[in-house]
Amino acid sequence: MSSRLDGSVGALVDAVQSGAASALDVATESIARIRASDSGTAGDAPLNAFVSVDDDVQSAVAASSGGSAARALAGVPIALKDNIATLRLRTTCGSRILEDHVSPFEATVVGKLRAAGATIIGKTTLDEFAMGSSTEHSAFGPARNPHDRDRVPGGSSGGSAAAVAAGICQVALGSETGGSVRQPAAFCGIVGVKPSYGRISRYGLVAFASSLDNIGVFGRAVDDAARVFDVVSGPDAEHDATSAAVEPETVQQEPGRLDGVVLGLPAEYFPDSLDPAVRDRVMRASVAARARGAEIRQVSLPHTALAVPAYYVIAPAEASANLSRYDGVRFGRRVKEASARDPLRAMYEATRSEGFGPEVTRRILLGTYVLSAGYYDAYYRRAMAVRDRIRADFASVFASGVHALLTPTTPTPAFKFGAISDPYEMYMTDVFTVTANLAELPAMSVPTGRISGLPVGAQIIAPRFAERAMFRVAYALEAELGGEAHTG
Ligand code: GLN
Repeated sequence: MSSRLDGSVGALVDAVQSGAASALDVATESIARIRASDSGTAGDAPLNAFVSVDDDVQSAVAASSGGSAARALAGVPIALKDNIATLRLRTTCGSRILEDHVSPFEATVVGKLRAAGATIIGKTTLDEFAMGSSTEHSAFGPARNPHDRDRVPGGSSGGSAAAVAAGICQVALGSETGGSVRQPAAFCGIVGVKPSYGRISRYGLVAFASSLDNIGVFGRAVDDAARVFDVVSGPDAEHDATSAAVEPETVQQEPGRLDGVVLGLPAEYFPDSLDPAVRDRVMRASVAARARGAEIRQVSLPHTALAVPAYYVIAPAEASANLSRYDGVRFGRRVKEASARDPLRAMYEATRSEGFGPEVTRRILLGTYVLSAGYYDAYYRRAMAVRDRIRADFASVFASGVHALLTPTTPTPAFKFGAISDPYEMYMTDVFTVTANLAELPAMSVPTGRISGLPVGAQIIAPRFAERAMFRVAYALEAELGGEAHTG
């Protein structure tokens, strides 16, 4: 008999609700799969998708309402990126500076998941403080891509994507500041959803760049992700002042047709330099959308090329302020320099230089520089002006009657470990994803085929708070593509 973990979330929930499966058995199996993925017994390098695993399965299940019927996620095991605060497991952010940090409170999404009956099985590998695109910046080793363990799973939520793609669990949460859910979803051949800014509470998500940060959802299939999305989204006036006050429409729905839907293909996301094989796989999604009744229209978002430079000013600027709290006094690691003349300053310096890895250090330096007197106008203010133009590009396309955009999620499939050593080159891989964060729009990646066995993702971008319409497109694409979504 195939495992409950290999089917859909819907089927698993039905089985738990009817008593045919137990939350405890399912969570136990999920955790056994984590161990197997790291054992190397099949000759594979360890997947290393998890930083922490909840080995006390009984208590993990008891911590939620998994046993009781009629819960939306009854008995569903779920993995959380290790920058989402939990009471039962430490929250390291993939950093030495928070290696032993256990949060005194838990994220709003965690409470919602537990109330819905989901079992939190562990915390997943990420680039330190979510800064990266490959998990190579994790202080606890990178996660690997289940499709080819010599390749990155993407980042920064690579561990969550790898866990879902490897069949450890059907769903996971990640976070998004510039593509960290959509890009690993594309690299691992699964579904990854970034909400509109304000749609999912950020309370308990460790801040990287607060005006861009979101919690996002991974699922093996669209419906799996939709069910989790409906549980975790919604207002949180008490804890997150940036959460939207409106109760969202449910995104879970039956796959249907796309008659009357206009999908835009933005020219800037299909440049001449784009790998023709990637273009070809994304065009598969466009053909599928047309077969379901959608109209396809060519559109333009003229400021797209400025998005990466603007993002890599704004995100580090906000990060440099957010990360100033890790000073050895209030959180995590403290390194003392006893002999120093100015012991407090020496403690700050030693703690921060030992606690932060090279990429986080680079971002803090960059951010501090662009915010410093004399450079603020030249960099930060200009980047904010670019952000306005990016927003305006999207607004005018959506105002012209286009309901959603269809683009590649990434310019290439998953790359090999070590293949991109130049930070600038790494930043450029975010070219198709940072725009939605800058413009606060919902966006998601769905599988649209493979190139030499490696998954390729198609991205759907929708107007702010139009998540239900975005999912309508995703459901239709998945249904129409069928097996083509996962074959060359
Ligand atoms: N890769 C991007 C960065 O390094 C995005 C990260 C993210 O979305 N958390 O900043």
